[in-house]
Amino acid sequence: MSTVLVIAEHDGSELNPSTARTLTGVAPLGDADIAVLANGGADVCAQAAALAGVAKVLHVDNAANANALAAVLAPQIAELAASYAVVALPSTTFGKDLAPRVAALLDVHQVSDVMEVYDAHNFQRPIYAGNVLIKENTEAYAKAVITVRTASFQAAESGDSAAAIDATTVSADLPTHTRFQKLEAQKSERPDLQSAAWVVSGGRGVGSEEQFSVIYELADKLGAGCGASRAAVDAGYCPNDMQVGQTGKIIAPDVYFAFGISGAIQHITGIKDAGTIVAINKDSEAPIFEVADIGIVGDLFEIAPQLGDALQK
Ligand SMILES: Cc1cc2nc3c(=O)[nH]c(=O)nc-3n(C[C@H](O)[C@H](O)[C@H](O)COP(=O)(O)OP(=O)(O)OC[C@H]3O[C@@H](n4cnc5c(N)ncnc54)[C@H](O)[C@@H]3O)c2cc1C
Repeated sequence: MSTVLVIAEHDGSELNPSTARTLTGVAPLGDADIAVLANGGADVCAQAAALAGVAKVLHVDNAANANALAAVLAPQIAELAASYAVVALPSTTFGKDLAPRVAALLDVHQVSDVMEVYDAHNFQRPIYAGNVLIKENTEAYAKAVITVRTASFQAAESGDSAAAIDATTVSADLPTHTRFQKLEAQKSERPDLQSAAWVVSGGRGVGSEEQFSVIYELADKLGAGCGASRAAVDAGYCPNDMQVGQTGKIIAPDVYFAFGISGAIQHITGIKDAGTIVAINKDSEAPIFEVADIGIVGDLFEIAPQLGDALQK
């Protein structure tokens, strides 16, 4: 029996890469079991079973799991959690939505955004927008429910060998008060913000929704994902799911371009693990230059097209 149960994030047919990253995060606890709650989901189970560091896959096949509704998944996970010391979820929208419900049902403490697992009771996590890292001890609770900061870990490798897949049933009563109505998602040809190797982001300095085209054009030239600061999102320049930062997405691209972004700590916390940060700002005193590897002082509307042409060569 493993110490840790990882909850798989998936869309019914593909395992989300956040699961493999979560697995690496909890590796100090030994091989993990992975729970796949799905309607069908045989392909997802096969992908999960092939990951290095998996002891066993628990397959809960139930029509009620067709859509990832936290209210429906949480009671099942709480039941599965009985024999584990740690329940781990990725700190993606999926995990952040689900983990508090699971912790509440188990009446235990939740540890968010874990950056290092020391043992089953001790975890490192950031506070004050990542300015301070603390070691949190959960011995006072029966078990720990954690979300793992996926940007801090490489994905576990997928190999030829496969862990056993156990068909598992749960007896938990599932609520009917929450029902799936429809999913409204932005369709984009661009790489996913959270897994893109390069990300081009714009801030309030971009000035308007129309002018955000300068960011999209550069991203398309470079084959990059697109991000934004909260100020840009709040001003309506771009959709909410582009927000990078403490209350947005935590990302770790190889290269991050910040156009017209001042560098508030809440934004920087979302890009701490980026490989190279390139900042473009007309204010040479902007705080972003303190964390940037490459800083360019100038007008983003002049520099973005020039940079696009230069990098395409
Ligand atoms: C609890 C909390 C959570 C938060 N979470 C987040 C979060 O997740 N993500 C986030 O981003 N913020 C977050 N914030 C907000 C954060 O504090 C800042 O307000 C925000 O990041 C500022 O966005 P910005 O840099 O785009 O705007 P500004 O601070 O207004 O900066 C705009 C920059 O653009 C530059 N500029 C203007 N015109 C040009 C031009 N033509 N060319 C080049 N440069 C130009 C300016 O010099 C300036 O530096 C949070 C705040 C709080 C309190």
